[in-house]
Amino acid sequence: MYLIKVIFLLCLIICLSVLSCNYYKNSEPVFADKLKITKIDSIKIRPALSKLERNLIKMNLKNVKDLLPELIIELKYSTDDNFIGFNVYGDLTDAYLQDECIEKLVIAYNILQEELPGYTFIIYDAARPLSVQRIMWDSLYVHESRKHWYVAHPDKGSIHNYGMAVDITIACPEGKPLDMGTEFDYFGELAFPRFTQKFLEEGKLTQEQADNRILLINIMERAGFTVARTEWWHFDASSFVYAKEKYQIIE
Ligand SMILES: [Zn+2]
Repeated sequence: MYLIKVIFLLCLIICLSVLSCNYYKNSEPVFADKLKITKIDSIKIRPALSKLERNLIKMNLKNVKDLLPELIIELKYSTDDNFIGFNVYGDLTDAYLQDECIEKLVIAYNILQEELPGYTFIIYDAARPLSVQRIMWDSLYVHESRKHWYVAHPDKGSIHNYGMAVDITIACPEGKPLDMGTEFDYFGELAFPRFTQKFLEEGKLTQEQADNRILLINIMERAGFTVARTEWWHFDASSFVYAKEKYQIIE
């Protein structure tokens, strides 16, 4: 009886083994060569959007690169190379603006191509959240009474907070910014556009630096922008009142 049981079990094991082998032989192996593989290099790979960028898109602001891919985007507040000394934009590396501000920028770019074919613009800042404005205000190392010359008071807000201002310069075809006499975010009178002629006469600006500044301001004004009183790189696409009435502030 014991022997019959052992023989039966052995037969059962052999049958099961044969069946399972056949099953795996007949079933489709799930290997890559049988799957439809999407070629990754054919997809435009883009890192996940940051929270700030998602918010800008939600607020209907547009990525400048979508309309002007020729522009160089170098958001200074997305690096440690700014007057605050650290990154306040996180992963944001694209410039966002309101549609009507980008439309004016397209006009400015076309004028630049007529004046200096092959040259482009570098954008240093565009839409900026109010939270960053507060950090800037607190970080600014000038007398309290003069802070508003350089950064709008966070309680009042800046036109950047509505996506209607851009910080910009001109770059040569090799991508190098033209010499404007001061760096971006230079906090002093030498950056004041209205003193360009005076500083040229005093020898504080060279003829080339003055000409470059005049060229930038002239192109931007012809496109409908207004230059800031104290910063040769800052241009408004509308009045502050208009931006405030028409658009929601970026918190
Ligand atoms: Zn600005």
